[in-house]
Amino acid sequence: MELEGLKRSIRYLEEMMHIKIKDLVTDRHSSIKKFMRTEQGTTNHLFDVWHVAKGISKKLEAAAKKSGSKDIRPWIKSIVNHIYWISSSCGTNGDLKLAKWRSIVNHISNKHENHSILYPRCEHPPITVDRQWLSEGSVPYKRLKDIVESRYLLVDVPKLSPVYQTYSLEVFHSLVNHFCPKSTHFFYPTMLARLSIAAIHYNENSGRQQAKTKTGEQRFSMCYPKAKKGTEAVVKPKKTATTFVYVTLIKQAVVERRREEFTSYTSATGDVHVYNNHHPDHMTSTFTPFRKIDLIQRHRSRFQRQ
Ligand SMILES: [Zn+2]
Repeated sequence: MELEGLKRSIRYLEEMMHIKIKDLVTDRHSSIKKFMRTEQGTTNHLFDVWHVAKGISKKLEAAAKKSGSKDIRPWIKSIVNHIYWISSSCGTNGDLKLAKWRSIVNHISNKHENHSILYPRCEHPPITVDRQWLSEGSVPYKRLKDIVESRYLLVDVPKLSPVYQTYSLEVFHSLVNHFCPKSTHFFYPTMLARLSIAAIHYNENSGRQQAKTKTGEQRFSMCYPKAKKGTEAVVKPKKTATTFVYVTLIKQAVVERRREEFTSYTSATGDVHVYNNHHPDHMTSTFTPFRKIDLIQRHRSRFQRQ
C-alpha cells in the first residue's frame, strides 16, 4: 500500500501538476527505499528523524535487556537526542552526519577527541560530573557498538532529513482514522467523501498557533508518554481551539447547488447514481475466481474428517 500510494502521488505531482520533486522525506520502509534508489534517482530521498530515532531506541532497549547489558540503558536518551542534533546541525552534508553518528562509540567510553577528520572532537563542554562510561571491550560496549555501526544505519544516517519531517503527515493519518474508523466498512463513494472531509478539516486547522491565557501567557498541556509507564511526564504546547468554518461553507454550497443545478429531486439523484457507479473494482476482481461449490465441498469434507 505504501509503495502504491507513493507511486500514485509522484505520478500525480509530476505528470498532472508538473511539479519537479527535489527532496522526498519518508520513513524507512524497505520497499520505498528500493523504489527511490532504483527508479527515482534524481530525487533526494531523506528520512524522517523521529522514525530513525524510534528504530534506534527500540534496538537499544532490546539490547539493554540482554544479560550483562543493563549499562546501555542510561545512554539511550542521550543517543536519541544526539540523532536529533545530527539531523538539525549538518544541513545536507551526509558525511558529516555519519561522522557525528560514529563518534558515539568513542563518547560512551569517555573519549571525546580523535573521532575522525570531519568531526575531530565532541562539541559539548568538558564533562565534570561522572557518567556511566562503558569501558571499551565490555559486553554492553560491544552490543552498543554493533547497533551504532549496523549496516542499515550507516546507510540511512547520512540521509536524515535536516528540516522537513513527516510529523504533520502522521497527524493527518490520525485525523483520517477519526473520520474513517477502520472498524467500519465504507463503500468507495463514502470513503472518498470522508477522506475529502478529513483533508478539508486538516487544511483549515493544521496552522493553529499555541493558545494563550487571558494574561498573554502561553498554554501547555500535560502528557504522560505511554512507553514510559508513568515514570515520565512532558508538556506539549496547547493549540487554539479547532474551527469548523468548512461545515458552514459546505452547507452553503449544497443549498446553492440545489437552487442552481438540481432544480428537481430526479436530477439530483441521477447525478448521485452516476457518481456512485464510478468506483474501482473490488480488490479481489484481479484474482482467478474459485467455484463456490468446490469450496463448499472442501469445507464439508474437512469438517467430517474431524
Ligand atoms: Zn563526547
